[in-house]
Amino acid sequence: RMPPFHGAASLLAIPLAPREEVLGAIVLASLKRRRGFEAALVEFLYDVAQQVALGVENARLFAALSQLASTDELTQLANRRRFTETLRIELARSQRTGSSVSLLLADIDHLKKINDSFGHPAGDAAIRHVAAALRMGRREPDLAARLGGEEFALLLADTDMGGALGAAERLLQYLNTHGLAGVGIVTVSLGVAACPGDAGSEEELIQRADERLYAAKAGGRNRICSSTAQAALPFGNGD
Ligand code: GH3
Ligand code: MG
Ligand code: MG
Repeated sequence: RMPPFHGAASLLAIPLAPREEVLGAIVLASLKRRRGFEAALVEFLYDVAQQVALGVENARLFAALSQLASTDELTQLANRRRFTETLRIELARSQRTGSSVSLLLADIDHLKKINDSFGHPAGDAAIRHVAAALRMGRREPDLAARLGGEEFALLLADTDMGGALGAAERLLQYLNTHGLAGVGIVTVSLGVAACPGDAGSEEELIQRADERLYAAKAGGRNRICSSTAQAALPFGNGD
């Protein structure tokens, strides 16, 4: 393979700089000896570079804005909008290819008490603490999201109920062994549902997981519920 600019006699670099910042450059190589670049050509390229630079800048602004629009500010996890979008895509993929998708819904236990005892900033810290635990356990294709308030979702691509239960147990295990400074142990209740098996649509998958989350709360919190019939087992039972 030829190195770039191999055999060039002169190079012309025109900066792409819509503002003070240089985003890149258009580089022109001339193979002719001695003759440089014609003034009219250089002028034309400056105009082109200006247009390209504005285009690049717009694309960057657009990317930054859509990142903002899909990110939760407090935790930097995905927000509900991105979660809904990703769930739709993953479920369609699952139905097309026959692969599994699992959903964990988590709700912090007694956050109101944490707010009342330690103040609202400590409540926020508890939310970030749980977000960090979710982020840590996640694999590359998974999506961790804050759906609002003290509710989170973990969407596990290519994962069946067995795999999802493993992830849920690791999350509880982590939270039960790593407290938050100034607050202590912060726990969550978890509802787990998997596709195919539990549901055929996004709404159904969310509803199944949500019912089970509710059962985990009713069963005493800090536990996982993964089937509609099952009484939620407390975390750590049988160890
Ligand atoms: P449960 O175990 O039943 O989930 O109890 P809980 O107190 O966590 O749940 P409840 O639904 O009774 O109350 C939710 C609490 O979460 C009350 C609300 O003020 C608090 N909360 C929601 N969003 C935020 C937030 O962004 N920051 C803080 N600090 N608190 C929040
Ligand atoms: Mg809640
Ligand atoms: Mg709660």
